Amino acid sequence: MVLGVAQDGGYPQAGCRKACCARAWTDPAARRHIVSLALVDPRSDQRWLFECTPDFREQLHALDEIRQATTAPGLDGIFLTHAHIGHYGGLLQLGREVLGAKAVPVHVMPRFSDFLRTQGPWSQLVKLQNIEVRPLAAEAPIRLNERLTVTALTVPHRDEFSETVAFRIEGPRKKILFLPDIDKWERWERAIEQELAIVDIAYLDATFFDGAELPGRDMREIPHPFVVESLQRFGKLNPRERAKIRLIHLNHTNPLLNPESDAVRQVKDAGLGLAVQGERVEM
Ligand SMILES: [Zn+2]
Ligand SMILES: [Zn+2]
Ligand SMILES: [Zn+2]
Repeated sequence: MVLGVAQDGGYPQAGCRKACCARAWTDPAARRHIVSLALVDPRSDQRWLFECTPDFREQLHALDEIRQATTAPGLDGIFLTHAHIGHYGGLLQLGREVLGAKAVPVHVMPRFSDFLRTQGPWSQLVKLQNIEVRPLAAEAPIRLNERLTVTALTVPHRDEFSETVAFRIEGPRKKILFLPDIDKWERWERAIEQELAIVDIAYLDATFFDGAELPGRDMREIPHPFVVESLQRFGKLNPRERAKIRLIHLNHTNPLLNPESDAVRQVKDAGLGLAVQGERVEM
């Protein structure tokens, strides 16, 4: 289940008084949570989160609405891509001030693991055993149970406090790629087209629509594949491959957040999809 589709700041974003967020400030239905997926196994009654965002409170509630856990938080594990606010800021909700969670496994890469263990306030979650840090190795599949497997793939991104990974999630029938943050497709040692070929659905970084989106900020300092670049690159693929793509991690300035925008039409015309908050994929 898709629990959120927005970039780290959410939509609307703190302090934004511009046209991009005006709609969402007035109309709560237009608001979007920060990027996150939930993986639910109805047979074993297990639930995992991909990312633990500052919108965790609402996202856990949304998950409970579709499958209630007997005791809070009812999470069998949390997978984190990297240490940028939108992807792990919600971990603090597991601490004694809020949930007082008991040993929720948090799967992260080794540097991220050291960071959580040694730097406050995260280290308190480890010390009080609210979370149990489980270091991941790139490309080594983790078996969650007999039906589900997760594999971390390293991707290039601004790695101030941690590595950055994407996750390939495999179920009995479907495989999903979750890749919310990457600098540029061509900076990755893997070809995104090859990764796309082995999955059924790919939730891909679409932070900015184009380079004109943040006037006054140097976009080279915060590189992402612009949607216009992705449309060009994926335009070379056959329609079946293109249809696997669902764009996610949208910055508040991204016109794809406005269903009536020309940008949305361009993406649809190109045969790509947009991730929808609340959508579910049977795996
Ligand atoms: Zn992000
Ligand atoms: Zn805005
Ligand atoms: Zn990031």
